[in-house]
Amino acid sequence: MRLKAEKITNKHGDVFLRCPRCGKLFKDSKSYTKHVNKAHKHLFNKE
Ligand SMILES: [Zn+2]
Repeated sequence: MRLKAEKITNKHGDVFLRCPRCGKLFKDSKSYTKHVNKAHKHLFNKE
């Protein structure tokens, strides 16, 4: 299972990924995935 990122576009047209659990912003999916695995890993261990 994966935590789906919310896509945010700012006024300059830059796309960011937002973590739905804590609201942090990331510039690329690699950083986002890293964050989820590190900060929210416990969410997935139950399944
Ligand atoms: Zn998060």
